[in-house]
Amino acid sequence: MNPWKTLGIPEDADLASIKRAFRRLIRLCHPDLHPDSPVALRRFLEVTKAYKSLTKALNVQVRVISGNEFEEEISSLFFKEQGKDGYSFFYLEVPYQDAFWGRRISVLIQGRETSCKACNGVGYVWDGERPLCEECGGKGYKTVHWGKDPIRILCKTCGATGFSNQARCKVCDGKGFTRIQREVYFSLPLGLRTGSILQIVGDESLGISPTFVEIGIKLPEKWHFDGLDIISELEIDIWDALLGASLVVKTIEGDLPVEIPQGVSDGTEILLKGRGWIDEKGQRGDHRIILRLKMPKTPPSKEALFRIRELKRLWPVDEDSRSMGP
Ligand SMILES: [Zn+2]
Ligand SMILES: [Zn+2]
Repeated sequence: MNPWKTLGIPEDADLASIKRAFRRLIRLCHPDLHPDSPVALRRFLEVTKAYKSLTKALNVQVRVISGNEFEEEISSLFFKEQGKDGYSFFYLEVPYQDAFWGRRISVLIQGRETSCKACNGVGYVWDGERPLCEECGGKGYKTVHWGKDPIRILCKTCGATGFSNQARCKVCDGKGFTRIQREVYFSLPLGLRTGSILQIVGDESLGISPTFVEIGIKLPEKWHFDGLDIISELEIDIWDALLGASLVVKTIEGDLPVEIPQGVSDGTEILLKGRGWIDEKGQRGDHRIILRLKMPKTPPSKEALFRIRELKRLWPVDEDSRSMGP
């Protein structure tokens, strides 16, 4: 049974279109609507089975593997002579919220080979006369002389096909087949880091070649990782620095209130304990916020300047910090 044929959908259909096709078909053959029809019942069972097998297959399993395991997997694939085309490896950047909460995502991966529709599996497209290779004149080989004897060598220009490269099928790059793109679904495992490698274990019915995904975690601007800790910067104005303030900061779990104590300087770190990244065991790092002092953009008024000078007399700079100056 080909479940795609049963549901009347192309093999690269995504879950939403599979669901739509299933709902449409099921209305036509539901036993409640056709109580005395064995044909409808058989169809109903077929459609249900096809739907179940497809949704099960497209919800794939993933596991995190180490760099060493990845190397081993790849070399064992080469050993089985599946070679370069036998697996796929790609990079995937995921938003930090998706990784942190282990959300479900979908990715497009390479399924089984199928004859290229654009060129009918020939690898070349032409209308009318077959365009010949300019180098070998369509023979696929060239004759050279080795001493007195003529020998034939394969034409590199056309890959010994005899076709002009201009006629090569753009869709399959002359191979005559393409791979069915499949949209598969999975939940991101807990504790992913930038550089983690996921192995997607697909159902055999999908014809998915072994697939490895290197993960990059996309953090907001001016955030970075330090192990499991997250470091971000927060701009505060001079008055908040002098007087202290209650502010709101962005964290992985959304906005959180923080108390800025009185008299902080540029570079002061505020620690949000246990609010950092998460590892595979569920242990959390901290979120460290580096304060950045921001001066007012507009110059002070005459009166404000006068009062700042007054303030300076009332509150002189410490002796030891002054002696550090030039
Ligand atoms: Zn040629
Ligand atoms: Zn093609």
